[in-house]
Amino acid sequence: MTKTLSVSAIQNGTVVDHITTDQTLRIMHMLRLLDKKHTVTVGFNLPSKSMKLKDLIKIENHELTPEEANQITIFAPDATINIIKNYEVVKKLTTQLPESIKSIFICPNPNCIIHSEPVESFFYIHENGKVMKLTCKYCEKSFERNQVKVKQ
Ligand SMILES: [Zn+2]
Repeated sequence: MTKTLSVSAIQNGTVVDHITTDQTLRIMHMLRLLDKKHTVTVGFNLPSKSMKLKDLIKIENHELTPEEANQITIFAPDATINIIKNYEVVKKLTTQLPESIKSIFICPNPNCIIHSEPVESFFYIHENGKVMKLTCKYCEKSFERNQVKVKQ
């Protein structure tokens, strides 16, 4: 019997596995993977023993930084992030929810100073049980992670 991989293996790069199924595009957008012209292969709704269905992102010839790996946990707390060299996993990045995130998101509050002043966005991240909130440093309003958009 031969096993077929749903998404082909990569020689060098990063594999982000066990991504919550509706969060993959946001993660790709947040990490600006397409803007940076990386070769990216994505698997959507793959069968998973632990999650039923999962998504997976393979980024060729690029290692995510520990900071980027931590940012992924905002959207996919159970993601596993492996660095691949010569088709082998050489490093598993251990992730931790970041305490704050700057510049990447825009504040959904139309009255927030961020929309009229040249300031970098800054959100504090808090997790309360399973609910994650992002609080804008400037207007002090809190938002669910799905309300906050990635800055263009
Ligand atoms: Zn704000």
